Amino acid sequence: MLQDVSNGKVRSLELSPRQRVVDVQFKDGRNLRVPVFSENQQLLRTAEQAQVPLTVRDEQREDATAGLVGNALLVLILLLGLGLLLRRSAQVANKAMGFGRSQPRLQPEGGPTVRFEDVAGIGEAKEELQEVVTFLRSPERFTSVGAKIPKGVLLVGPPGTGKTLLARAIAGEAGVPFFSMAASEFVELFVGVGASRVRDLFRKAKAKAPCIIFIDEIDAVGRQRGAGIGGGNDEREQTLNQLLTEMDGFEENSGVILLAATNRPDVLDAALMRPGRFDRRITVDLPDRRGREDILAVHARSRPLASTVSLADWASRTPGFSGADLSNLLNEAAILTARRQQSAIDDAAIGDALERITMGLTAAPLQDSAKKRLIAYHEVGHALLICLVPHADRLDKVTLLPRAGGVGGFARTVPDEDILDSGLISRAYLLARLVVVLGGRAAELVVFGSSEVTQGAAGDLQIVSRICREMVTRYGFSSLGPVALEGEGAEVFLGRDWIRSEPHYSRDTGNRIDAQVRSLATSALDAAVAALAPRRDLMDHLVERLIVEETIDGDSFRVSVQQWEEAHPGLPPVQLPRASSVLAGQPTREADVEAAQVGVQAGILNR
Ligand code: ADP
Ligand code: MG
Ligand code: ZN
Repeated sequence: MLQDVSNGKVRSLELSPRQRVVDVQFKDGRNLRVPVFSENQQLLRTAEQAQVPLTVRDEQREDATAGLVGNALLVLILLLGLGLLLRRSAQVANKAMGFGRSQPRLQPEGGPTVRFEDVAGIGEAKEELQEVVTFLRSPERFTSVGAKIPKGVLLVGPPGTGKTLLARAIAGEAGVPFFSMAASEFVELFVGVGASRVRDLFRKAKAKAPCIIFIDEIDAVGRQRGAGIGGGNDEREQTLNQLLTEMDGFEENSGVILLAATNRPDVLDAALMRPGRFDRRITVDLPDRRGREDILAVHARSRPLASTVSLADWASRTPGFSGADLSNLLNEAAILTARRQQSAIDDAAIGDALERITMGLTAAPLQDSAKKRLIAYHEVGHALLICLVPHADRLDKVTLLPRAGGVGGFARTVPDEDILDSGLISRAYLLARLVVVLGGRAAELVVFGSSEVTQGAAGDLQIVSRICREMVTRYGFSSLGPVALEGEGAEVFLGRDWIRSEPHYSRDTGNRIDAQVRSLATSALDAAVAALAPRRDLMDHLVERLIVEETIDGDSFRVSVQQWEEAHPGLPPVQLPRASSVLAGQPTREADVEAAQVGVQAGILNR
């Protein structure tokens, strides 16, 4: 480089003393960076001699500026970070302050709405609600004759019967703003939040009156106050109190109708139910046969059904089904249809779907023949008694196809429409049911002997115990007399019934109840054995047939039984248990038989 400088090839030099380099710029445009000693006198001299301009970089100043820029950058980053943090915490604070605000969903305009015609099978409830809508649309008609607009309408009914659906239908039809909220959305960690949400909800609603507020599953906040062990739930109680005042406080909240739904009306606070608050209570019950048919029709609208399918038929085969169950049934059938690559839902698909829903998924068929034979005897025992015992239901089918969950097979009946609709179950019917349910165990006893019976009847025994107990303690069907010894539904509402869950009878009565229950069950088993033992040949024959066919239709099973009975006329008729302890005295005249059909709440069949 020194040579190049002396030879005049270099245009300029720039020395950076701290970095100990010199940047050389040649006349031909090249650049070169050359390391040098720190006190390079020779370079200075050579440059001076060759008259090449040499500049020295003022690195200290540069350093200073660089430092300044760096510091400024750091401060900026810090500030930015701080700002971000502040913003975040402000948002959180905002949220905390906004806790009290409710977020009711206002029914969107023009979205897919539910119409009254989508709700079927619950005619009365629908009519009542339609009247509420009229109230809102033309209040003058009512106010002119001094009628007050109802403040609250409570929809009560078992799950899946269409309460939420009905509310959505109102939203679609009412033509007024519709706020909806689930009651659980009021409940928060902090006391007072729910109450202020209620206030806020009503404030928003009053601004838009006339309108409807819908609170789903209101039992989440409307529970009895003061219930619960160790004091009540403060938050929930405050929320409820606020709700009570909003509904019927000093303020006149004209034009706001509160619609609420629950399936636990029994746990609601009494103050909520008094006139002036929920002054209308609409019961949405499980649909009857016609209702089920209508609901099926509603859900079949969007699905292609084969022309052979009779909805009326399926409605009569699905007693106790709610709207949600029926909708699920058709959906399962549609899924099966798609899986089978068919274009329309046929009877087979609906039948399989029904079985899946009621009995569980199918499992692989049994291989083990000894086990299969035992199950066959068990099921034939049930089925045979269904055909033989007076007052029993009609046999639908017997099958050996196992289901997931350990069910080896089943004998199914078609429930009696009369009983389901009227809700009246006679003592004879229950006795018949006891005998039928014990038929499985009885068949095992008759065929395999008392040491070979299996635990397969455990489920049956549970049903038997329940029926027997209810007969004795609730329906007055025993010699303990016409006394209700237990209330309906043994489950306690924690807190309210906890302290009172002690039985209401003496220990002596308790012992007698147990004895009655046992004697009922034993006599039913005796009756079942007495009916099956002389029919061993028939059982063998039916078991062979069941093992080969795996499923026997109820009608053809009944025909076999009838033919065999006609061929063996000498057999004693099958009788219901007549233990002395059971309801003393038998009715002698037809009229007495009628009178003995004591009214009992329905539902035992479905539980
Ligand atoms: P819940 O009474 O428990 O609020 P839902 O109203 O949510 O029951 O019903 C669930 C579903 O069941 C509905 O979306 C609908 O598809 C079906 N469903 C229930 N009841 C009816 C009915 N009466 N008519 C038509 N569909 C029904
Ligand atoms: Mg609901
Ligand atoms: Zn059984």
